[in-house]
Amino acid sequence: MPLTYHEIDEKMLNKMKKRDREFLITICTGADFEDNKRRKKERPKCFKEMRIKQRSYYILFCPYCKNHGLFLTYRKPNKNKQEPFQCVFCGETNPEQKISFTLEKSQELLEMAKEIIKEKNKLRKARKRLLLEQCIVVLTTGVEIYLRDIYATLFNIQFVKEKKSLYEKFYKDTKNNFSNIGNTNKKYKDDLNINLKQIIGQKNFDILRMMQMKRNVIVHNNGNADSAYANENNSNITLNDQVPINITEVRKFIASVYILIKSINKEIGPSFENERMIWIEKFINGKTT
Ligand SMILES: [Zn+2]
Repeated sequence: MPLTYHEIDEKMLNKMKKRDREFLITICTGADFEDNKRRKKERPKCFKEMRIKQRSYYILFCPYCKNHGLFLTYRKPNKNKQEPFQCVFCGETNPEQKISFTLEKSQELLEMAKEIIKEKNKLRKARKRLLLEQCIVVLTTGVEIYLRDIYATLFNIQFVKEKKSLYEKFYKDTKNNFSNIGNTNKKYKDDLNINLKQIIGQKNFDILRMMQMKRNVIVHNNGNADSAYANENNSNITLNDQVPINITEVRKFIASVYILIKSINKEIGPSFENERMIWIEKFINGKTT
């Protein structure tokens, strides 16, 4: 679910009123085709031709700074398409893009942990532990930023007037609300009417909760159980025991984060899509500034 750049493609054009569609196409093709004959081509063909010419058009609608505009990008021949993801005005990145970078890093750390244990080195177990710990830290921090980002962004889009942005305020005000998935769920339920536990299921919710608890003891207690951890997991971990971390569990953490992202997209995608089309219509008709 792209929050910043929306590609102008046939799918988007087909959802528009004819007049708006023609207007948008004229702006885009006018920049591409100098002679009138070519400009009169069947419109969707023009868009295909732009693709061949390695050009793509986007409407930029930044939910952070609320700036907007038309955006043209070139890509190098024979290279995979590069979607723009940073706002040219404020430099902010899509929450989804940020979390996908986080997931890439986490998976890389997990792979390194799997490789390092094969080495004939007496430090291999300690190094594997170190890599898995860092994997949990990177992943959990990424999830907290993602959930806080989505929360502040939806608030900024839904409740703040056009041209104005209170993203920074929402983001700062929620600093302490997202370090505990239970509190996060309460904020989502109370303010956005989204029940995270329900959309991802109890099992994934518990996995994410455990991931957060492990990150807390890694960061604050050198990976050893503090009283909060020992009380919650009263089975066989006592105070100051080293908290167990293994590859299978970290793999489960990563899988649950994927489920979280997919479930949030499914939950907020359709209404966001509607908001976006309404906004694009206003933009085309000069009703935004
Ligand atoms: Zn921006």
